[in-house]
Amino acid sequence: MADPGVVVIGAGMAGLVSALQLAARGLPVTVVEAAQAPGGKIRQLQVNGAPIDSGPTVFTLRWIFDEVLASVGTRLEGPFIRSTSPTMGRMVGDLGLRGLSVLSRLGPMRSLWDSLGRHFTDPRLRQLFGRYATYCGSSPWEAPATLMLIAQVEMDGVWAVEGGMHALARMLERLARAQGVTFRYGAACERIELQGGRVSGVHLANGERLDAQRVVFNGDVAALHQGLLGDAARTAAPRVGPRSLSAVTWSMHTRAEGLALDRHNVFFTGDYRSEFADIFGLGRLPRRPTVYLCAQDRGTGVADTGAPQRLLALVNAPAVGGQGRLSSEALDECEHQTFSLLRRCGLTLQPQARESVRTTPDDFHRLFPGTGGALYGQATHGWNSAFARSPAASPVPGLFLAGGSVHPGPGVPMAAMSGQLAAAAVMASLGSTSRSRPVATSGGMSTRSATTGSSA
Ligand SMILES: Cc1cc2nc3c(=O)[nH]c(=O)nc-3n(C[C@H](O)[C@H](O)[C@H](O)COP(=O)(O)OP(=O)(O)OC[C@H]3O[C@@H](n4cnc5c(N)ncnc54)[C@H](O)[C@@H]3O)c2cc1C
Repeated sequence: MADPGVVVIGAGMAGLVSALQLAARGLPVTVVEAAQAPGGKIRQLQVNGAPIDSGPTVFTLRWIFDEVLASVGTRLEGPFIRSTSPTMGRMVGDLGLRGLSVLSRLGPMRSLWDSLGRHFTDPRLRQLFGRYATYCGSSPWEAPATLMLIAQVEMDGVWAVEGGMHALARMLERLARAQGVTFRYGAACERIELQGGRVSGVHLANGERLDAQRVVFNGDVAALHQGLLGDAARTAAPRVGPRSLSAVTWSMHTRAEGLALDRHNVFFTGDYRSEFADIFGLGRLPRRPTVYLCAQDRGTGVADTGAPQRLLALVNAPAVGGQGRLSSEALDECEHQTFSLLRRCGLTLQPQARESVRTTPDDFHRLFPGTGGALYGQATHGWNSAFARSPAASPVPGLFLAGGSVHPGPGVPMAAMSGQLAAAAVMASLGSTSRSRPVATSGGMSTRSATTGSSA
């Protein structure tokens, strides 16, 4: 009987990369996606007729995409993030003595916040670099000092994608279609079916059943563990640790006056610690939030004309979505604090109701089931948290995991890497790595851009 092929559940970054690479190796691939478009968290919202990137905006580690696009049949070996099944012992072996000495200088057992205190006497610099913990949804007080490496990653280049980040997802979808991948949108998967202890198919919300001996799951592994994909698939993922950050975002098309914005802007308050105590300690919205503002028309000329421009504002929030814990009064107060801080820093925005769309942890929870709105899987808290993420090959035969909630972790490039790892694991399960076909695409990434910080 012919192999029914692979079903990929979810067209987020990792799902797209997996689908592309598996199809390029000659496997029949069907992607089932609950939403009506690819990208997952790489969302674009239309506000007042303008497309606003409303998910990731900081794009780094471009080489991962160069690799995906240039060579679908690349061998996966080398650094920790490329390891299919990371363990402490294997990492120590890979690093060797020289690598271990560099790692020990980073102080992996210390928190990021403590370590920054050894390097910076100015508390504002400590605050600025502490923010890197939030890139994987964590608190600077609990994240390991190794996250300082993100500063190095940014120094290697922060890229802007022509057409916005969403264009990256669309481009991968186009390439995957060209390789023969079938995309089914508005097709939520309700159950992963097992027969004789291994995957045999998937059941969609519309009652349809698809045959599959191999399934790549690109949703959050918390959904598997909670039984949202059926009882049989629960054991594919262990119970996950504390949830990472969620967010409240405002996608806006509005005038911005009083302050010259860069593309990436961060507005700090004087009391950084309270933000993380509120979120991780008390599970409530921060009373004094740090505000990230992405001015998406910087560099296009629009921003200088005084015309309405495309903006995304984001503040960190607890992942308590779906529990009825965030009242509209609390969200309005958070909004008030957010825009007051911008005003105190000299920036006036005029987000009329029709020019602004607010997304809350409840919304993120609805979009990404099982998460409570957490955007980065489990929090990266503690020196060994990197080893707690599930590898691509789950304990359930035929079920593979890909996305920001599994190894090597969250963020667009890491999720893409995870998609590669899942595709490699599927191929390994077939006992073959042959039939790699090259892919070609037009470029689209350009413009290094800088981040500015302000505080009040
Ligand atoms: C507001 C925001 C800002 C961010 N900022 C940055 C940034 O600046 N830089 C950066 O690198 N990263 C950033 N991130 C994180 C980054 O976007 C994610 O880590 C990455 O995109 C996750 O990709 P993924 O492969 O895990 O898939 P996801 O984006 O999580 O997509 C999973 C997909 O699976 C689908 N799905 C789930 N369950 C089912 C089911 N049962 N049936 C069918 N479909 C299903 C979902 O609908 C979704 O489309 C940000 C995220 C957000 C939300």
